[in-house]
Order: sequence, then structure tokens, then C-alpha cells
Amino acid sequence: MKQVQEDKVRNIINEIKDLSMDIAVFRDEPMSEHTTFKCGGNAALFMQPHTEEELVVISDVLERYDVPWYVTGNGSNLLVSDSGYDGVIINTLGLRSTGDEISFFSENPIEGDECTGIRVRAGVLLSRVANAAMERGLTGLEFASGIPGSVGGAVVMNAGAYGGEISQVIGNTTVISSGGKSEILTKEELKLGYRDSIFKHERHICYEVDFHLKKGDRNQIKATMQDMNEKRRAKQPLEYPSAGSTFKRPEGHFAGKLIMEAGLAGYSIGGARVSEKHCGFIINAGGATATDIKNLMDHVAKKVFENSGIMLEREVCLLGDFG
Ligand SMILES: Cc1cc2nc3c(=O)[nH]c(=O)nc-3n(C[C@H](O)[C@H](O)[C@H](O)COP(=O)(O)OP(=O)(O)OC[C@H]3O[C@@H](n4cnc5c(N)ncnc54)[C@H](O)[C@@H]3O)c2cc1C
Repeated sequence: MKQVQEDKVRNIINEIKDLSMDIAVFRDEPMSEHTTFKCGGNAALFMQPHTEEELVVISDVLERYDVPWYVTGNGSNLLVSDSGYDGVIINTLGLRSTGDEISFFSENPIEGDECTGIRVRAGVLLSRVANAAMERGLTGLEFASGIPGSVGGAVVMNAGAYGGEISQVIGNTTVISSGGKSEILTKEELKLGYRDSIFKHERHICYEVDFHLKKGDRNQIKATMQDMNEKRRAKQPLEYPSAGSTFKRPEGHFAGKLIMEAGLAGYSIGGARVSEKHCGFIINAGGATATDIKNLMDHVAKKVFENSGIMLEREVCLLGDFG
């Protein structure tokens, strides 16, 4: 793989360090430590900003040096190739611990409405936001409590579960666009679709998100969250590294059922296996390489097509060179 020019990397690091900001910078960072699949090679450079200002600076610097970059949250929908990523990872998880990363606001202050809006930084974990909402007796984010992603990743993927979806609760979203320009996108401008959003088609970094919730009963909200999470534990192979559902749900079908009907439950390539507990999940059953997982994804899609005539579409994002 062609290396991001050594002098560019050194200059970027020096420029960031000269700013005396709190940006964490790591060279040759193993992405297996930043993805829930727990595999994949190194990123040439890995950066964790903590504030909007730092995010803007990084975006500006990377634009000027013209190096490839990619944003990650909790890496729970991401497979990085074994040869790694020859570019810069901007990881948002540093944005979750500034002290003001979750705030509540009133949606109708003139009438003295109670606070039913939550403003959250992109690096905050969804489970934490769902819990914060529950503690305030706010309903709408119960579905998100068991999704192991960051708020930013959830918006990009328009994550959903048990009939709930980010598109049902999202409002304005602050993004950093190319060259470090901060702008606010409305819900309509986010173009949310099934596991799809504007972020999949245009280069923006999701920085901060407004959720619009409703007053509810705290105990009821808590019980609903517990019920959903018990269902997850019963039906999903949470004891293994994975990225959740490997494929999108084809209209009128369930990917897991199609995979089971193709006789692929438990089918393995290297350390990658089709979960027998939930065929929609490809798991790292032990020592899987990213190549094992990608090859298994391709094999599953081919066999399902041969068996059912339905072409499965990958939900998991790929990063790096898969040959
Ligand atoms: C056990 C398990 C269960 C799961 N269950 C569900 C489920 O029920 N429903 C569901 O929808 N998903 C589910 N997922 C998948 C995953 O958790 C979600 O898609 C989640 O929203 C991804 O968030 P993330 O922060 O991990 O994103 P990442 O995996 O880090 O990134 C995903 C994509 O978003 C982009 N991205 C991330 N953050 C930003 C940002 N701030 N700005 C711009 N781009 C960004 C990345 O570039 C990448 O393209 C599950 C995963 C696992 C492992």
C-alpha cells in the first residue's frame, strides 16, 4: 500500500502540536482497538479532538495537506482492512467528556414549557443519552439504549431498532464541512433514509445533535429499555465481537432468515462465523482477520442470492483496501 507521505504526517503532527490544543494524536494506531469486530490493521494517524474548535482545526489542517481522512465513532459498524488505513482517522469519542456534552433545553420557552429537547455531542454513546433521557422522564430514545454506537454514528446510519429510528427524534444537527466550516443542517437536510443519510454521500463531520422527545413516565421508560435489552441478550450473540446486523433488511424479508434458509448457520471462514444464535450477525469467533470477515460476507451474499434470488446489501461500512 502506498504510504501517506512521511513528511506530510510529520508536518501535520507538528502543526497540531504547535497549537497547544488538547488533541490526542497517535501514529500507527491499531484499529482493532477501535472497532467492535476487534480486527483490522493500523491507521497511519489517529486523532481525538475534544471540542468543536479542535475539530474545526483538524478539518482545516487535513484539507490543506490534502490527505485522506475518515471519521469514526465507536467503530460498531465498521470493518477496517488487515492492511489498515493509509490516512487520518478523526475519532469523535473525545467529544464525550467535556462536561457539557449533554444538555437539556426547552422547545417552547415562551410558554415556559418543560425541557424536552436534548443537545448532545456526536461522540457521546447512545446508551448514555438514552439513560439521561430516561432519568429525566423523557420518552423517544428507548430504542437506542442497546445500540452500541456513538450519537454521530447513529445519525450517519440513521440507526434503529424495535420500531424506533433516529429520524423520529432528531432535530437540527451541527456539522463541520470541508475546510472546517461549521453549519447547522435541519432534519430535512440530513436526508435520513433506511440506514442512510447525507453523510453517506457528502463529506460532513457530525458534531452536535438535537433530539426532540416527549414527557413520559420514568419507570415505564426504564421498563421498556430493560425489556428491549433482555430481548437483545436472548436473540443476539453479544458475547462475541461483531458489528451487529451485517446486511440491510431486504424489503419484505429478514436477512437472518434468508441466510438460515441458505443453510449458512454456523458457516465459517477462518475465525469469522455466521452466528447460529442470529444468522444476520457475522461474528469474530476467535482470531478472525478482516479478510476472513469480508470473504464470509461475500460468500453469504452469493449463497443467499443463489438460494433466494435476493441480493443482500451490506450494512457494515468498509475502510481500507480489501483487494
Ligand atoms: C452488537 C451490536 C448490535 C447492534 N444493533 C444495532 C441496532 O439495533 N440498530 C442499528 O441501527 N445498528 C445496530 N448496530 C450497528 C451500530 O451500532 C450502529 O450503526 C451505530 O449507530 C454505529 O455508530 P458508531 O459510532 O459505532 O459508528 P462507526 O462504526 O464508528 O461509524 C459508522 C459510520 O458512521 C460514520 N461516522 C461515525 N461518526 C461520525 C461523525 N461524527 N460524523 C460523520 N461520520 C461519522 C463513519 O465514517 C462510518 O461511515 C449494532 C452493532 C453491534 C456491534
